[in-house]
Amino acid sequence: MDSLEPIQATNDDASECKRYAVHLNYWIDKYIHFFVRHFEKKAPEINRGYFARVYGINNIVKSFIQKAGTKCQIINLGAGYDTLYWRLKEDGFDIYNVIDIDFPAVTAKKCYYIKRNSFLLDSLHNSDNFSGTDLHSFNYHVIGIDLKNINDFENKLLQCGVDYDIPTLFISECVLIYIEIKFSQLLLKWISRKFKETMFIDYEQVNMCDKFGEIMTTNLLERGCLLAGLEACKTLDTRKQSRFLNTEWSGCQAWDMMQIYNSVPFEEKKRVESLEFLDEQELLTQLLQHYAICIAWKGEHFKNIKII
Ligand code: SAM
Repeated sequence: MDSLEPIQATNDDASECKRYAVHLNYWIDKYIHFFVRHFEKKAPEINRGYFARVYGINNIVKSFIQKAGTKCQIINLGAGYDTLYWRLKEDGFDIYNVIDIDFPAVTAKKCYYIKRNSFLLDSLHNSDNFSGTDLHSFNYHVIGIDLKNINDFENKLLQCGVDYDIPTLFISECVLIYIEIKFSQLLLKWISRKFKETMFIDYEQVNMCDKFGEIMTTNLLERGCLLAGLEACKTLDTRKQSRFLNTEWSGCQAWDMMQIYNSVPFEEKKRVESLEFLDEQELLTQLLQHYAICIAWKGEHFKNIKII
């Protein structure tokens, strides 16, 4: 088996979990079913965990757009089948440029699904520019690269008409954990040097080791992602340091997902909690404490952005 396959397969897991949670009405996504047909029942705590993840990231994306305006770029690293472009458009945000990036094996499938679906295709302007793994339309691009290769990253961004001078949001939802630290640091440093005004949203596992230093989840190890397992042991503070403070970002803030979940407005939380019976609240708390969102900014513009 190709050594990248287990990492690429994490997109299938994440997309299926999101698809199932959407099916149960945790949130609305009118586009995900075009990418994910098959899904299985998941435990209530998994569904709520995904709800918190999507809720947290959506809120931060909207806060960024409120501050930056729509003449901005959103670059989604390891985007998988993320439907953000269409969801933002539906909410009335016609973003200047949105770029989804993943391994070519993943983007090839994403391009295939988009190409065969007129509902997805119709919202793209001038979308006839498809290669096997890449898609270029007026303000939406899908590109296939390995993020460990900065030269490819730079070249392909140029093909997407990237502008280093306008506000740019990077999203990395459960992705950096799969990249060896020396490569993720090169990538983060390159971004912070190259983009004038930028913000980064990083969602990842934290606190995954017990007091003996043993990794508490076998999931990452089973996938052959030992490095990811080790990275997942970091605390919020060591994560902030290794990701952003060591890579020339101006500052960062982090919350575990329990804090994010607790910030959900009362009515919305009531609605979500009425969807399914949750037997073990403790299990949900533990799960949420093992994931975190960290945001980082360069310069002062996005420093005081309101998040939770
Ligand atoms: N961000 C999506 C989401 O949350 O639904 C997908 C998350 S999935 C857990 C991780 C994604 O990161 C996969 O699609 C995988 O292929 C991608 N990825 C991991 N390492 C990568 C690399 N070095 N270059 C490009 N993509 C990568």
